[in-house]
Amino acid sequence: MAVFEYAPAPESRAIVNLKPSYGLFIDGDFVEGTETFKSISPASEEVLAEVTDATEADVDRAVAAARRAYEKVWGPMPGAERAKYLFRIARLIQERSRELAVLESLDNGKPIRESRDVDLPLVAAHFFYYAGWADKLDHAGYGPNPKPHGVAGQIIPWNFPLLMLAWKIAPALAAGNTVVLKPAETTPLTALLFAEICQQADLPPGVVNILTGAGATGAALVNHPDVDKVAFTGSTEVGRIIARAVAGTKKKVTLELGGKAANIVFEDAAIDQAVEGIVNGIFFNQGHVCCAGSRLLVQESVADEVLESLKRRMATLRLGDPLDKNTDIGAINSAEQLARIKELTAAGSQEGAEVWSPPCELPARGFWFAPTLFTGVSQAHRIAREEIFGPVLSVLTFRTPAEAIEKANNTPYGLSAGIWTEKGSRILAVADQLRAGVVWANTFNKFDPTSPFGGYKESGYGREGGRHGLEAYLAH
Ligand code: NAD
Repeated sequence: MAVFEYAPAPESRAIVNLKPSYGLFIDGDFVEGTETFKSISPASEEVLAEVTDATEADVDRAVAAARRAYEKVWGPMPGAERAKYLFRIARLIQERSRELAVLESLDNGKPIRESRDVDLPLVAAHFFYYAGWADKLDHAGYGPNPKPHGVAGQIIPWNFPLLMLAWKIAPALAAGNTVVLKPAETTPLTALLFAEICQQADLPPGVVNILTGAGATGAALVNHPDVDKVAFTGSTEVGRIIARAVAGTKKKVTLELGGKAANIVFEDAAIDQAVEGIVNGIFFNQGHVCCAGSRLLVQESVADEVLESLKRRMATLRLGDPLDKNTDIGAINSAEQLARIKELTAAGSQEGAEVWSPPCELPARGFWFAPTLFTGVSQAHRIAREEIFGPVLSVLTFRTPAEAIEKANNTPYGLSAGIWTEKGSRILAVADQLRAGVVWANTFNKFDPTSPFGGYKESGYGREGGRHGLEAYLAH
């Protein structure tokens, strides 16, 4: 495996104009708070900026601003007018996409090739797509003047900071809601740059408010009595807390939670193509992906061939500087996440699975984990049951399609799955029996603003994306 020492690449970094400290974005302006915390680069541990830790009083101010904007400006505004702002935001995101991509990679640790070629195009696409819905909302079959919920409180995780923001803000605004959004504490910076874009687009004050902070800020937002709709993406553990907090209130809720997806390779699959899909399925974004193909289920008859080819391919992955365009595997987002990955992989070895990584020396500073696979995994092992959220693949085998389906569904989660086979009829039959919100066939981790995304079982409820994602923000 090729390894590169982390060395900042000043020329690409220069495009980002980082301020030493940031306030909260409330009612169209950046306002100072009382407490701050640091956002660091996970690749170098360098402090990128001081960010405000929003208090309950800040949540109050932001929700009040969102309520005013909802009642006086955004709610009454015709959808076609709202669309103009959303189109403008989409175009500004495209214009500033290099800057946004570099900042995303700096703050999150993901490879620039991914933030530039995957995240940012999808972020813009979501705003364009929902701008189209806003533009035609009165003629979309919901009757004249479809009603939004009001003020949406939105909480997002750190793995796709801007993309999760787009999934939340674009449909909410299109439907006529105003929002208070809290980014994750380890990746607040692109949301703050997005706030600047809202100013640049002349979005009316209070329509979008961004509150940086940790879990306590999120909890204050969820519990605020004047929030009408809560949208959360994050861990199943926090999802449960939120579901309990809103139970019995007027609040509508959507939850996008964890996953433990099966990527199923049948013996008739195109093996080279499947190996690419396995690599993309688990190593994309260092495996910090809720729908990652973290359990490989491979048919026994081709298991040796698949594993050999997979190991050869893993040895070519380049780990290192997220801002280097040749990097495949960037930094792990935080020390906490790295510790969790280490704990679960240690459990994998203790429980008797066999661990393998390509030869690899990790950079001395920052948070890193080599691409790893475990063979000899049984369904009882923690690495087969728990979400690792890192570049770690658990390999299990099966003999018959029925056994593959049984194993794939043997999880408390149900977010996504992949099927690799040349047989069309098998794709349809297996997909039909998988309890997963998204099933990919002969591909993996493909996203599109028109497609609904969401889980069964402990992966959450509600859908984001597509028409379904719009409806989650309409009261009808
Ligand atoms: P997390 O649940 O720890 O945090 C998510 C967000 O919730 C953060 O902004 C955090 O500050 C906030 N939060 C923490 N405690 C809170 C509380 N008590 N009340 C309100 N908000 C609170 O998750 P994470 O570690 O940031 O993200 C990783 C998880 O997100 C993984 O489990 C992953 O599968 C999931 N995820 C799911 C999807 C999906 O679409 N289903 C997408 C991305 C990530």
